[in-house]
This record gives sequence, structure tokens and C-alpha cells, in this order.
Amino acid sequence: MHFSRDEKALSTSAQWKTSYQSVSGPFKGFLEVLVKLQRKLHDKELLDNCPIRTYMVTSRGGGSPGFRALNTLHDWGLEVDEAFCLGDLRKPEPGSPVIIAISAKLVFTEQNMSPGPAFSFALKAVNAKLRAHYPESQELFKVILIDDNRSDELNNAIREHNLENLTEIMSGEDLINNLKENNTHLYLSESEEMVTEALNNKIAAAVMKTPGEMAEVSESELRIAFDGDAVLFSNESERVYASEGLEAFYRNEREKVNDPMKEGPFKGFLQVLVKLQRKLHDKKLLDKKCPIRTYLVTSRGGGSPGFRALNTLRYWGLEIDEAFCLGGSEKGPILEMIKPHVFFDDQQHHIEAALTIGIVGCHVPNQ
Ligand SMILES: [Mg+2]
Repeated sequence: MHFSRDEKALSTSAQWKTSYQSVSGPFKGFLEVLVKLQRKLHDKELLDNCPIRTYMVTSRGGGSPGFRALNTLHDWGLEVDEAFCLGDLRKPEPGSPVIIAISAKLVFTEQNMSPGPAFSFALKAVNAKLRAHYPESQELFKVILIDDNRSDELNNAIREHNLENLTEIMSGEDLINNLKENNTHLYLSESEEMVTEALNNKIAAAVMKTPGEMAEVSESELRIAFDGDAVLFSNESERVYASEGLEAFYRNEREKVNDPMKEGPFKGFLQVLVKLQRKLHDKKLLDKKCPIRTYLVTSRGGGSPGFRALNTLRYWGLEIDEAFCLGGSEKGPILEMIKPHVFFDDQQHHIEAALTIGIVGCHVPNQ
């Protein structure tokens, strides 16, 4: 066999290391006492009938890495009954669901228990598409309805609207800790106080406001529109505008045009949406065929401010489907065209504009 010099050095080092024992880890002593007990029992010829059985389950593969592990045990005089050297043949991660926690009152109105926002229906449609293409996947939307009463009416409404597979009910007790434990990606509530507390705990959260009369939105495609500053991005530029005015804001954006902004409270939520989209794109569900569509609707103009926003998303590796840099124009007409299921913004007047045209507005209190 011919080795080049480097290969030879590598091979010699691997051989040397495979015959060299590892320093003991914290559980060596425990294995030692188990093996000692086993030996005692083996002395009574309780070999296969031994009541203790030990297993090593390691991610080291079956080549040198696994060999070195077994060799180390051998050097220590410790025999494990079974060893699994799994290498890279681990089962692919099934992923985890996208958790959205919503106050039950916002989905089913108290008066007639009719469905509130059509949001749940769109989530259900996306789940159906995901399930059709990825039957094994855990990465589906799951909605936690927060309700203290666990009323029969709520259960009936869930059944009536066929939302059993989508929803779970949770009480509002110790809410923030429960949201964290459930890895909540988005929390929507009518209570500004709870939303602020959730945001302080790094959970994307907003006060959801439902218009008197809802615009008709798609039931097969989920559309989500985000404001930029203080929602997807931090409020660093907005603070410049608030304290020093518009000129200073433009100067700041020009100077920092290539510097990505810090992340805002909704970056993580956009990230899980993009991840799901990518999964669907793998199945050639591109563009309008993808059941999730994301929008940036920002007051930043198309010059340096808009460029910096898109550059930040690019830097994060997040591709938004459509971006509207409105240069200070009203957001209403664009939202009317998009007809999103939900629209997130930190400015009350943009939320009001959404509500007047029948769009669900979710207010993200500025941190
Ligand atoms: Mg904003």
C-alpha cells in the first residue's frame, strides 16, 4: 500500500490513538460496580441469566471511533454486554411543531361562539398540505387556546369547526412559564399586560384586534404581513428617528446601510415560517403553490432605509416573499391588496388602518 506523506502521518496518528486509552469519564466508576456485580453473578454460572445488562449507545461510528471506545473499555477490563456504534445513521429529526398560543376569546367570540379570525382555518389548510407531503413530520402548526373556564361551549365550537386536530386548550394559570415550556413561537392575546410580559420573556407576542367586519381572506393560503422596525428588526433606527428626527434617521441608515440591524421580537417567528416554506419548496411547491406567504410592509423608503431592511433579512438567511417599502405612505391600501390573515405592527395608527379595511391587526408594544 502506498501512502503519501500526509496520509501516512494521519494513518499512523489514528493507529496510535486507537490503541491509546481515553481518560475516564464521570460514569466509569458506576459501570465498574455494575460489572463487578455481574462478575459475582457470573461466578454462579448466571451468564445469560444475569439480572444486570449493560449497553453502550454511542454516536461514534463502527470504524476507528467505535474501535477506540471498545478498546478503552477493554483496557479498563470492563465489558459492556452490548455496544451500538451508530455513526451518522441516526434517524432524521422529525422537527417540532410551530406553536401558536391564542386567547380563546379571540378565536371564538363569546356571544355566539362563531369563529373569530379566519387564522385557524388557514393554519388548518397549511397543516393539511404539510401532512400530505410529509406524513411523518411533526412540523405542523399547533394552536393552544388559552381559556380559564374550559367551557363546554368552547369544546363544542372546536368540534363544530373541525379544529380538534389543530387545537389544545390550556388554562391561563402561570401562563408565561407554560408558554416557555411549550416552546411557543407566537402568543396572541387581548391583554396588553400579558403581551408585554411575554415580550419581556423573549416570546413573540402581540395584542390581537379583530375588525367589526372581516375582509374575506384565503382559506387555503396563510398570509402573514410584518412591519420592519420594532417588529422583525430591533427599534435601534426608530430610536434615532424619535430622538433626533427624520434627517438624522436618513443619515443613520445611509451610514449603516451595509450593517445588519439587530433582531426584533418577531424574527424567530418569521424564521419558523421560512423553515416550513423551505420544506414545502423541496416538494416543488414554489411561489403561489406554497400555502404560506410572507410580506414585509415597512414605512422605510426604497433607498438606503429599505435596502438596509432587505440586507438584514438576507444576512439572516431569511427570504421574505414580498417586500413593500412605502416611504412613509399609508399602509392601508397595500394591506387591502395583500389581504393577510394577520398583520403585525408596533404603531397604533397602522393597526387602526388595517382594522378599518377588515384586516386583523396585531399590535406589538414597542419595547
Ligand atoms: Mg415599526
